[in-house]
Amino acid sequence: MTPKNRDIRLELITLLGVTTTVVIAAFAIYRLMHGNLTALLVDMLIACAILGVVVYARVSGNSQRAGNLMCLLNSCGCLLAVGLIGPIALTWLYLVLLTNFFLADRRLALGAGLTMLVTLCVLPGVFPDMFHAVSTLVTAALTALFSYTFATRSQDDRVELQELASLDALTNVPNRRMMERALTLAVEQQTLGRGRYGLIVLDLDRFKEVNDLYGHAAGDDAIADLASILRFEMRKDDQVYRFGGEEFVVLLQVTSRDELEAATERLRKAVRASLRGPGGRITISLGGALLGHERDWHDWFSRADAALYRAKSNGRDSYVIAEDLF
Ligand code: GH3
Ligand code: MG
Ligand code: MG
Repeated sequence: MTPKNRDIRLELITLLGVTTTVVIAAFAIYRLMHGNLTALLVDMLIACAILGVVVYARVSGNSQRAGNLMCLLNSCGCLLAVGLIGPIALTWLYLVLLTNFFLADRRLALGAGLTMLVTLCVLPGVFPDMFHAVSTLVTAALTALFSYTFATRSQDDRVELQELASLDALTNVPNRRMMERALTLAVEQQTLGRGRYGLIVLDLDRFKEVNDLYGHAAGDDAIADLASILRFEMRKDDQVYRFGGEEFVVLLQVTSRDELEAATERLRKAVRASLRGPGGRITISLGGALLGHERDWHDWFSRADAALYRAKSNGRDSYVIAEDLF
């Protein structure tokens, strides 16, 4: 597993599960030595259940469900311990409130935290007096509130980071990294007999002149306008990517070569009709290829790229569809 796709939640479940089990087991030995069999039983039950969740998480790989389970388990375990052992078990309250937000969906963690606090209020004999009750409940509520705020902020940051890593900053269309993933997936899907795919590689014609004559900013505007036109022309299930520079890639689900050819020509016409720079009309050339028996998307891409090269040689503002490979 590479560092990029590490499952942090799974690591946390394992770390928390194993350390909590070790600590609870140590407590269990202490209870045994002092003959407190009820507490011993409670400790053993909680430790076994926590270990069970760790094993489930590691075997199934479903860390989201396992995290939610562990959140519920830790919260119930904490309440059970307070009810059976007494207020001394309240020392676990803050740890459970905090770690729930790292383990589970933040709304579940908040709900579990509030339920714990309400239950502690109504359970008889938990607090020696009103002062202890109020100070414990206020500090615990603040812990839950800050943890919730932090979890929400982290979630927003994560979404923003994912967007930054997947979208091109100038055009807002998915970048080359996303294209590589999509092409890999398309090859897998077609190999399994699920759909048929076509690919179009397109490139602005004589774009260097636009930059040289009117400046880089005018060039950037033309690239952004091209992306808007492509997006507007896309069918619902097609996807456009910025491959780099002034080159874009369109991935389409198609049923035939004719369909790919019609889509390619439609894009050429749409750009010709709408894309204007400071010096007038800007056109594109396109190369298309149906996915054949290739197992590596690079081979498929190379055929479309070679077709684009031929379209450029044919005088630009044109397209070529590569020979089918079947
Ligand atoms: P051809 O018709 O053969 O494609 O000619 P061309 O001039 O478009 O091709 P060439 O590869 O010679 O030039 C591509 C130009 O695209 C060079 C580079 O300055 C420009 N370019 C690439 N990325 C960007 C970008 O992000 N912004 C701007 N403004 N220009 C870019
Ligand atoms: Mg070009
Ligand atoms: Mg180019």
